[in-house]
Amino acid sequence: MDEKDEKMGLGPHGFCFCPKCGYKKPHEAGIPCREERCPNCGVRLIREGSLHHEMLKRVDTADD
Ligand SMILES: [Zn+2]
Repeated sequence: MDEKDEKMGLGPHGFCFCPKCGYKKPHEAGIPCREERCPNCGVRLIREGSLHHEMLKRVDTADD
Protein backbone atom coordinates (compact mmCIF):
# COMPACT_ATOMS: atom_id res chain seq x y z
CA MET A 1 0.00 0.00 0.00
CA ASP A 2 1.21 3.50 -0.74
CA GLU A 3 0.37 5.56 2.30
CA LYS A 4 0.93 8.85 0.53
CA ASP A 5 -1.64 8.02 -2.14
CA GLU A 6 -4.15 7.13 0.54
CA LYS A 7 -3.60 10.39 2.39
CA MET A 8 -4.20 12.25 -0.85
CA GLY A 9 -7.54 10.51 -1.13
CA LEU A 10 -6.80 8.74 -4.40
CA GLY A 11 -7.53 5.28 -3.06
CA PRO A 12 -6.07 2.01 -4.31
CA HIS A 13 -7.54 2.20 -7.80
CA GLY A 14 -6.80 4.34 -10.82
CA PHE A 15 -4.25 4.55 -13.57
CA CYS A 16 -0.59 5.28 -14.02
CA PHE A 17 0.38 7.15 -17.16
CA CYS A 18 3.46 8.26 -19.03
CA PRO A 19 3.75 12.07 -19.22
CA LYS A 20 5.81 11.74 -22.38
CA CYS A 21 3.91 9.42 -24.72
CA GLY A 22 0.60 8.99 -22.92
CA TYR A 23 1.03 5.27 -22.22
CA LYS A 24 -1.42 4.22 -19.54
CA LYS A 25 -1.84 1.16 -17.35
CA PRO A 26 -4.01 0.27 -14.36
CA HIS A 27 -2.39 1.17 -11.07
CA GLU A 28 -1.30 -1.88 -9.14
CA ALA A 29 -1.93 -1.81 -5.40
CA GLY A 30 1.32 -1.68 -3.50
CA ILE A 31 3.34 -0.44 -6.48
CA PRO A 32 3.64 3.35 -6.65
CA CYS A 33 3.30 4.60 -10.22
CA ARG A 34 6.58 6.49 -9.87
CA GLU A 35 8.34 3.18 -9.38
CA GLU A 36 7.06 1.88 -12.69
CA ARG A 37 8.56 2.75 -16.04
CA CYS A 38 7.00 3.36 -19.41
CA PRO A 39 7.82 0.42 -21.71
CA ASN A 40 8.07 2.85 -24.62
CA CYS A 41 10.20 5.68 -23.23
CA GLY A 42 11.54 4.35 -19.94
CA VAL A 43 10.36 7.40 -18.00
CA ARG A 44 8.64 7.16 -14.63
CA LEU A 45 4.89 6.86 -14.70
CA ILE A 46 2.62 9.35 -12.93
CA ARG A 47 -0.49 8.58 -10.95
CA GLU A 48 -3.57 9.83 -12.74
CA GLY A 49 -5.32 12.46 -10.62
CA SER A 50 -2.25 13.06 -8.47
CA LEU A 51 -0.95 16.51 -7.62
CA HIS A 52 1.81 16.00 -10.15
CA HIS A 53 -0.79 15.21 -12.78
CA GLU A 54 -2.71 18.40 -11.91
CA MET A 55 0.48 20.42 -12.30
CA LEU A 56 1.11 18.92 -15.73
CA LYS A 57 -2.41 19.79 -16.83
CA ARG A 58 -1.86 23.39 -15.74
CA VAL A 59 1.33 23.57 -17.76
CA ASP A 60 -0.54 22.20 -20.77
CA THR A 61 -3.32 24.76 -20.57
CA ALA A 62 -0.84 27.62 -20.04
CA ASP A 63 -0.10 27.48 -23.76
CA ASP A 64 -3.61 28.55 -24.74
ZN1 LIG B 1 6.13 6.75 -22.58
